[in-house]
Amino acid sequence: MYKEIQKYCSDRNVSLVAVSKTKPIEDIQNLYDQGQRIFGENKVQEMEEKYYKLPKDISWHIIGHLQKNKVKYIASFVGMIHSVDSLELLQIIDKEAKKHNRIIPVLLQFHISKEDTKFGLQLSEAYGIMDDVSINPIENINIVGVMGMASFTDNINLIRSEFKLLKDIFTNLKNRYFSTQNSFSEISMGMSGDFKIAIEEGSTMVRVGSAIFGAR
Ligand SMILES: *Cc1c(COP(=O)(O)O)cnc(C)c1O
Repeated sequence: MYKEIQKYCSDRNVSLVAVSKTKPIEDIQNLYDQGQRIFGENKVQEMEEKYYKLPKDISWHIIGHLQKNKVKYIASFVGMIHSVDSLELLQIIDKEAKKHNRIIPVLLQFHISKEDTKFGLQLSEAYGIMDDVSINPIENINIVGVMGMASFTDNINLIRSEFKLLKDIFTNLKNRYFSTQNSFSEISMGMSGDFKIAIEEGSTMVRVGSAIFGAR
C-alpha cells in the first residue's frame, strides 16, 4: 500500500507522515529504503530509540500528547511537534530548543471531534496563547500550522465537517496572527481511514500508520 499512498499524496502536494509507532526498526528501514523520510511517533522514549538506530536524515515527528518533562529528551533532533496544546508546553519547547540552538517547528493541536477523550485546544484558547506570544516572543519555535483528529466513526459527513472546522480555524489564525508569515502553512489532518477526505478538505500533511504498516 505504501507506494500507492505515497503517490496519492505527492500528486496532490501533501506531505506524508508514516506513523511508525509500535513498529520495529526493520519496517521503518524498509520504508526508508523506498524513499520515505518523515516518520511519526507518539511516545518519546520509543522515538528516541528509533532515532539512534536509524539514518540521521529521517525527520521524526511527535504526533501524540507530549508531556512537558519529556521535551528535553527530543529537543536536539525532533523534526516537528504536532501536538502543542498549552502555552506552558510551548514555553518549555522554546527553552529546550534554545539549549540546542535550534528552531523547532510546531503545530497547534485543536479539539475538532465530539469525543472528549482527545487532546486539543479550542479556538479561544489558541487566541490566548497567540496573544501571549505576541507580547513575550518565543524565538526558538516556529508555529507552522494546526493539527486535529476527526471522530472515530463511519459517518463521513461528520468527519468531513470536522476537517472543515480545522481548515476554518487555520484560516482564522492565519488572518489574525500570521498574515505576513508564509511559514504558517500546514494543516495536519487525515489518518488511514480518512486521509482522502482530509485532503479534499485542505490537508497539507496526513499521518498514516496502519494503511502503510498493517494493523497494530
Ligand atoms: C496512531 C495515530 C495516527 C495514525 O493512525 P492510523 O489509523 O494507523 O493511520 C495518526 N495520528 C495520530 C495522532 C495517531 O496517534
